[in-house]
Amino acid sequence: MATERTLSIIKPDGVEKGIIGEVFNRFEKGGLRIAATKMIKMDQAKAEGFYAVHKERPFFNSLVKFMTRGPVVVSVLEGESAIQRNREIMGATNPAEAAAGTIRKDFASNIEENTVHGSDAPETAKFEISYFFKDSEIF
Ligand code: ADP
Ligand code: MG
Repeated sequence: MATERTLSIIKPDGVEKGIIGEVFNRFEKGGLRIAATKMIKMDQAKAEGFYAVHKERPFFNSLVKFMTRGPVVVSVLEGESAIQRNREIMGATNPAEAAAGTIRKDFASNIEENTVHGSDAPETAKFEISYFFKDSEIF
């Protein structure tokens, strides 16, 4: 076990629902420190680049449209096994399958509008963090 960093996004539905504070509270209570954070609005190219790994999936265009419809909050979370810990706090991709007490179970609308993103592995975390933050913006 080691201290890790992971990339979190509160997606447009989460910002619209007014739960930024609630989500941050769950991260901090769950042992994750917010090492960087900012609100941005992604354009199409930014969202397509972020989700490039999914570009052959049937939901890709819809996902990009959703992720660009309003502002998001991107953050770097740091802590023991932060990547896995954040995935536990978020819950399963499909809120219908997410465990009780997870962010997605409590707030997500459906499998697409599922409130939060979290990196899924060390390599993707490294790429995703650098996609939004310079080293000098992470504390
Ligand atoms: P996760 O965000 O849990 O890592 P994936 O990487 O598989 O999930 O998918 C990325 C995002 O694409 C999901 O968070 C969700 O917003 C969207 N998505 C995944 N599967 C579907 C689907 N079957 N239909 C619509 N959107 C989906
Ligand atoms: Mg993923």
